[in-house]
Amino acid sequence: MDERAVRDLASSIDGIVTRPDNERFLASTRGFNLAHRHRPALVVEPANTDDIRAAIQFAGTHQLPVAVQATGHGQFLETTNALVLLTHQLSSVTIDERARTATIGAGTRWRRVLDAAAPYGLAPLSGSASTVGAIGYLLGGGVGLLARKYGFGADSILHLKMIGADGVETRVGPDQHADLFWAIRGGKSNFGIVTEVTIRLVPVSEVFAASVYLDASSIDPVLRRYADWSRSAPDDVTSSFAILRPPDAPFVPEPLRNKTVAHLRWVDCSDEPSRQHLRDLDSILAAGKAVLVHAGLRKPSDLDFVHDDPTEPCPIWERTAQTQSLSSSMIDTLLEHVGAQAASPLAMAEIRQLGGALRRQPEPPNAVAGRDGSYTMLLLGIGPPELLSAVADAGQGLLDALRPHLTGRSLMNWLGSATSPEQVRAAWEPATAARLQAIKAEVDPTNMFRFGHPIVDE
Ligand SMILES: Cc1cc2nc3c(=O)[nH]c(=O)nc-3n(C[C@H](O)[C@H](O)[C@H](O)COP(=O)(O)OP(=O)(O)OC[C@H]3O[C@@H](n4cnc5c(N)ncnc54)[C@H](O)[C@@H]3O)c2cc1C
Repeated sequence: MDERAVRDLASSIDGIVTRPDNERFLASTRGFNLAHRHRPALVVEPANTDDIRAAIQFAGTHQLPVAVQATGHGQFLETTNALVLLTHQLSSVTIDERARTATIGAGTRWRRVLDAAAPYGLAPLSGSASTVGAIGYLLGGGVGLLARKYGFGADSILHLKMIGADGVETRVGPDQHADLFWAIRGGKSNFGIVTEVTIRLVPVSEVFAASVYLDASSIDPVLRRYADWSRSAPDDVTSSFAILRPPDAPFVPEPLRNKTVAHLRWVDCSDEPSRQHLRDLDSILAAGKAVLVHAGLRKPSDLDFVHDDPTEPCPIWERTAQTQSLSSSMIDTLLEHVGAQAASPLAMAEIRQLGGALRRQPEPPNAVAGRDGSYTMLLLGIGPPELLSAVADAGQGLLDALRPHLTGRSLMNWLGSATSPEQVRAAWEPATAARLQAIKAEVDPTNMFRFGHPIVDE
């Protein structure tokens, strides 16, 4: 690449430009997922929207593809020979209390939005970990802890600003670029770089939340009772069940270290704490033996404990799938592969219940994938490359065995290691994937935005 042009870019913007020969370069391209070594051509850390515009215009002139990273929680595709935009400096939140909205900058993590909204008794539709970036989460759908009552995070997007392949910032909303507004709410980074999003907040100041770990012998009976209960679960309760194999590490609570355990997560956002829902929870838990319980009334900004996701960067493999029912034969297959008696390298096999408000399209509709599924599964492994290849084999083996029970569709945010355009397109019904591709061809004909989870072939 033309050294002089890079120097000109660096001197024309307020942010930072680094080349591979710079010490800052390697550290800055490492995100949360350490499984991949990215080899971009150039890293730009914009200090404002003008910097993003200048970087995209530079990429266009030099025919470089563009990737974007806020926190690195969703990096599963090696970024090679591209201009990478690191948006971490662009963290901002403005709450409009009367309109019950939040306007969020490109590099903002959920923690900042949760803390800004909480004093007003409001909450965003964020996910299980407040360390995740708000924009990446929202554009990929976003299934959070209040999801069955309030829907996908993407459904709460009112309008946004983005910079497309032409380097121009555009406002996109129900009345402006309606096709793009449909596509980007679900189609993620395939269309451009989002610089700002305005979302609707929900009036929730307190919920009943529980995080209950149970011993290995509880996995089978508790999962089956959970599956029975979930068939007629109330929309107020968003819940999930996971089989975990936490390592023997100091950050893991002692009763869980190096064990196979069940983990039931439960968030009830009924207006009044519901006695019936508590009885339901007790009855599920009565099928097993709890070893660690955290539960009580909490603010929506204090819910990271429910999943207790890892907070330190680590190498991750993950894949996802959906099912319409947790049938007995599906549970048999699952337990054969990851149950108490199995020797599985997967650190987690999680089932989150979907349905409720997640099934309802917002107005205007959007392109969120996996809206019709009843349950979503996430298979995840953590470890060095030699372990991750065993994890990938085990995960693929489980997905193959479960195939007759799966819908074939998936949530975009959890596609994880399924990064080929064919795998990404399969997240949607074919007609929806075709519409996304047609809009992509119109707004990004050279496929400048081809990293993350790309929907068109290179
Ligand atoms: C610990 C953990 C917990 C999670 N919990 C949930 C959960 O509860 N529910 C859920 O739905 N998902 C969850 N996820 C998945 C997460 O929502 C996605 O990985 C999301 O893409 C992460 O966004 P990020 O900005 O943090 O990550 P990054 O790796 O920085 O970005 C991921 C992708 O988001 C896109 N993106 C980011 N910023 C922009 C932008 N400004 N413009 C356009 N595209 C952009 C790009 O495609 C980028 O490749 C979780 C992930 C982890 C690791």
